Amino acid sequence: MKYSQLFIPTLKEAPADAEIASHKYMVRAGLIRQLASGIYSTLPLGLRVLRKIEKIVREEMNAIGGQEVFLPSIQPSELWEESGRWEFYGKELLRIRDRHDREFCYGPTHEEVITDMVRKEVRSYRQLPLTFYQIQTKFRDEVRPRFGIMRGREFMMKDAYSFHVDEESVLETYEDMARAYSNIFERCGLEYKKVEADTGSIGGAHSHEFHVLADSGEDEIGFCNSCGYASNLELAQRRIDQETNRPESGKTPKDIEQIPTPGKKTIADVASFLSVSEKEVIKTVVFESPSGLVAGLCRGDREINPIKLKKLIDCEWLHPADQNKQDGNIPFGYIGPIGLDMPKYADAEVMKMPQAVAGANKVDFHLGGIHPPRDLTGIETGDICYAKAEDPCPQCTSGSLQVKRGIELGHIFVLGEKYSKAMKAHFLDSNGKEKPMIMGCYGIGIGRTAAAAIEQLHDEKGIRWPKNIAPFQIEIMPLNMKDSATVEAAESLYNKMNEKGLEVLLDDRADRAGIKFKDADLLGLPLQLIIGPKTLKEGMVEIRIRNTGEAKSIPLDQAFEETLKLLDEL
Ligand code: ATP
Ligand code: MG
Repeated sequence: MKYSQLFIPTLKEAPADAEIASHKYMVRAGLIRQLASGIYSTLPLGLRVLRKIEKIVREEMNAIGGQEVFLPSIQPSELWEESGRWEFYGKELLRIRDRHDREFCYGPTHEEVITDMVRKEVRSYRQLPLTFYQIQTKFRDEVRPRFGIMRGREFMMKDAYSFHVDEESVLETYEDMARAYSNIFERCGLEYKKVEADTGSIGGAHSHEFHVLADSGEDEIGFCNSCGYASNLELAQRRIDQETNRPESGKTPKDIEQIPTPGKKTIADVASFLSVSEKEVIKTVVFESPSGLVAGLCRGDREINPIKLKKLIDCEWLHPADQNKQDGNIPFGYIGPIGLDMPKYADAEVMKMPQAVAGANKVDFHLGGIHPPRDLTGIETGDICYAKAEDPCPQCTSGSLQVKRGIELGHIFVLGEKYSKAMKAHFLDSNGKEKPMIMGCYGIGIGRTAAAAIEQLHDEKGIRWPKNIAPFQIEIMPLNMKDSATVEAAESLYNKMNEKGLEVLLDDRADRAGIKFKDADLLGLPLQLIIGPKTLKEGMVEIRIRNTGEAKSIPLDQAFEETLKLLDEL
């Protein structure tokens, strides 16, 4: 394509609300424009990138037997009531009414629709397994849309769903999907990590996320450099037996004593007031659960992970108790396990504290001299805290956890019978017995993948596209459009490359060289072929590799071959 004929509205300045590089560059390079909060138009250059990612995704989905469908984005509320999500999904679900006052939503995901489609057509085990996928826009009324199309409200997703007769079959497809996802992100030129993820209320060990590591990521990933263990930090386990940073052991247990701690409500205040480390203070956090208030206990330097605590308690939901809603009998800031009248759950590490301070359940007082193995008997214990950097790896004996931020690009999940049971998606097995189908679901954010690629590879000048998802692979830059020899050389190379099926952008604008250089670096095509009148007189042109900044002069008559060679090596 010729630059002059393509709509590429580049900007010098990024919009004021753009916090991260990918958002800034996607707007500045003319890939996207905002219409409303979290809602974006994709411009020609941006669409070329999305289409390339989609093509890779399609090829990999087809390769594992996925069948492409296209499901409606407007979905009737009845289906969501059947699955129980009409209530549960809350405000993220955009609800609409038609002229007959019937309720619909704009699909944030498609489990209900696909389950409905399959239950109406599939009767027998002979028709299974089935895997469907689509690439389509979703709408989620996110609390905090931000980062451009990375966390939009309307966004493009590849979602896939599979239906099976049993667990073994769904796991086979799950593994196929995991491999397909790895291929997709590799082909997109991304450095990614496959990490263990939370399975929410469904349980089971089969959920993985695919993350690109980047400082702007919204998730924290814990991983071991020694054995390859990787997990979303909201789920990462800890090996507690070899805990580092334990308080000195060997101290003889003292008796419990009540200590005045006027106004000292936080762990930090109490520790500094009593001249002990935060590791010697027990943190007691009160949660609301379906059966009433419960308390979680952990060492003062740790944070309780509600997901883990919920699993230990085995309850439907759990959230931090609202201090303002309680009746005043709970002395927040001075709560401790001894004498607290509610079910208590302790992090296993607490039992390893030789001696501890905790709230006395009395305003302005704490208890010292607590020896948990002696004083906190009968409390259920487990791993209920977030893992953090330097914790020993839960999987191997030699490594320790590193923590980095990640951007979630994909999520694969064994759903089991959650939707098929609720929506009666049944089949007859080989014995003629009716059973709910076993399902899996698998998503990739297409726009988020494009944004993450920019996040991972940009520099201070602009984007540096991986070659397989770049809008074009080569930019030819004639530096003076008034010089006929320059224009002729550029056009003849451009024509030849086009004929050979290369994707090439010819910057045929009459602008100054400086502007062309700046825009080329901003757009970030992998190769820049620079043709200047002076060097051309000596028969030479220059090729630059955007990613590495390497540049070399080559004779014009070798430019085509050299470009092919460099592209191949990228
Ligand atoms: P997140 O935790 O980031 O909100 P999610 O768990 O809600 O993600 P899924 O429901 O698993 O996401 O959706 C599958 C994929 O869709 C995600 O891995 C991500 O790549 C993409 N995605 C989800 N929400 C958004 C969004 N608001 N904007 C752009 N892409 C999104
Ligand atoms: Mg979400």
